[in-house]
Amino acid sequence: MASRGTQCFLTVARKYSSSADKNVAFLGLGNMGGFMAANLAKKGFTVRGYDPSTEALNEAAKNGVTSTKSIAEAVDGADVVVSILPSNKVVLDAYLGKDGVVAHSRKGALLIDSSTVDPNVPRQILPVALESGKGFADAPVSGGVMGAQNATLAFMAGGRKEDFDRSLPLLKAMGAKQFHCGDIGSGQVAKLANNMLMGITGMATAECMNMGIKAGLDPKVLLDVLNNSSARSWSTEVYCPVPGLVPTAPSSRNYENGFKNELIVKDLELASGLALAIRSPIPLGAVCTQIYRIVQSRGYGQKDFSYIFQLLKEDSEKKQ
Ligand code: NAD
Repeated sequence: MASRGTQCFLTVARKYSSSADKNVAFLGLGNMGGFMAANLAKKGFTVRGYDPSTEALNEAAKNGVTSTKSIAEAVDGADVVVSILPSNKVVLDAYLGKDGVVAHSRKGALLIDSSTVDPNVPRQILPVALESGKGFADAPVSGGVMGAQNATLAFMAGGRKEDFDRSLPLLKAMGAKQFHCGDIGSGQVAKLANNMLMGITGMATAECMNMGIKAGLDPKVLLDVLNNSSARSWSTEVYCPVPGLVPTAPSSRNYENGFKNELIVKDLELASGLALAIRSPIPLGAVCTQIYRIVQSRGYGQKDFSYIFQLLKEDSEKKQ
């Protein structure tokens, strides 16, 4: 007789494996992709993974993801390809290169890229994918590594509605929220707008908390005021940059295991490129880009982006 745990697993597995798209190729098994692929495998999909890092492949294999030696091998015969990769260039090469996804996936396959990239990247890939008889959608994510691990990510997708609808069983197996934002590339636009605002409010929170504390306020009292007044935001409620006030915030664990400063720099640079291309003024976004870059060049790129609070504090403690 199946144990209670086994029964639960079977129920969940059946729920997702009823989708026609059962065979998934997963490209990029890093901090995010490793957990996302593991969640697909856990929920009944057959997952073949590819990553140039042997360590990443071995780790994913422990979670039910079959290792392959190339993109071509991973995507061969797959119903759906999901990728989450580091940069514009890596994504373009992975999809459009001669050994890449479009060349080697089967006709009728659905291709989903969850990397954070310039909106023009998915716009370049879509016509080539359609030409060779495949669907393609951009579906970047928010929620970080914890969201990837716990399958609570928010997906913001761009592309044809039929492709979005088809992607839903997979997106639901990896996350808690799914948005169809519009045409191809619009998922990336939503992602960049979200992360630019997160970068700006994060820095504003650090600056205002530091000023209030330096002026003599009890940090707890100040945070309580902000969280019950008009300045309340995700940064004050969930992600307070001052250590010890929100126990689950990265600031309370020495700014480790959060959203790395180098990633906010990447996203703000992509947002700056988008804004420049469409001539949309982003004065605050531009200043934040520069300041987070300085944090990175001082050697704190691996720390959570709320580390800016420490640099402001240090500076305000110097004798003027
Ligand atoms: P990561 O560096 O941990 O993982 C990327 C993986 O891709 C690596 O394992 C790398 O070896 C692999 N890779 C490189 N080239 C490849 C190729 N040609 N084929 C297959 N795999 C390849 O990065 P991450 O933190 O997992 O982030 C991945 C993407 O997700 C980025 O675009 C990032 O901006 C975005 N993102 C990250 C977070 C986060 O909190 N880490 C949150 C939201 C979005």
